[in-house]
Amino acid sequence: MKKLGSQRFHIAPGERYHLKHIDPHDDAGIDEKGEAKDLVEELQAKLQSFQQCLYAQGRHALLIVLQGMDTGGKDGTIRHVMGAFDPQGVIVTPFKVPTEEELAHDFLWRIHKAVPRRGMIGIFNRSHYEDVLVVRVRKLAPEEVWRARYEQINQFEKLLSDNGVAVVKLFLHISPEEQAERLRERQTRPDKQWKFNPGDLEDRALWHDFQTAYEDALTLCNTAWAPWYVVPADRKWFRNLAVSRILLDVFEGLELAFPKPVPDIDSYVIPDVPERQG
Ligand code: ADP
Repeated sequence: MKKLGSQRFHIAPGERYHLKHIDPHDDAGIDEKGEAKDLVEELQAKLQSFQQCLYAQGRHALLIVLQGMDTGGKDGTIRHVMGAFDPQGVIVTPFKVPTEEELAHDFLWRIHKAVPRRGMIGIFNRSHYEDVLVVRVRKLAPEEVWRARYEQINQFEKLLSDNGVAVVKLFLHISPEEQAERLRERQTRPDKQWKFNPGDLEDRALWHDFQTAYEDALTLCNTAWAPWYVVPADRKWFRNLAVSRILLDVFEGLELAFPKPVPDIDSYVIPDVPERQG
């Protein structure tokens, strides 16, 4: 269990993330068929009780930002890991190509509106990071515009953190070989074909540009108040385990506690329901 501390996936702010040095196939030496299953169950049970506490206490919100290349496993992560949570306490927001109205505002406008209220967990399936990723790689805005955004993002996330929102950012790191495999699966499996998007092939051709843009975002926006974690994501079971572990560490840092019960709670007697009249 020790070998799977969340620090395995994180580096100190100020250091540079080099993705080529991080193995997307990493499994931390954990045996999928052995300890992994028990570990996931144990972690999920703990996550569940932390969430209850977060909800009951209503002092903090948790914002989970999910980023990754196409087929990186954002949807799967949401299904498997977040499935541990009570749906009443979670809101998932996907960020697609901005609408005309969204484009008429600053890039954080649509993001800020989706930040979870205290007590809640918010999951961003893509996020404001698209504005320094796809926007940069596909040259949708001039360099001076996207370059200024790293600092704007840091300040925005500081505002959130200072106001009770714990921000945790997860980059699901897959290899180009694994992506090819998953794209082929989408192409050929009838239950997955609906996900096949020829546009994803264009982004694949820009793989290295995206990796560079990711490295910059991971490095320039890796702050003490909103850290980035790089999750090896070629093996889905390990990705799920790693994400659970990271979230658990974040929860532990929040010092959550159930609110105090009403005074003299023991003195209350639960009355019988009166007889029905007539
Ligand atoms: P997903 O791939 O997340 O399952 P889609 O296939 O609808 O869902 O893809 C969403 C698309 O929206 C992605 O190609 C992504 O790059 C794009 N997108 C998200 N945010 C922005 C943005 N701010 N500017 C331009 N494109 C964006």
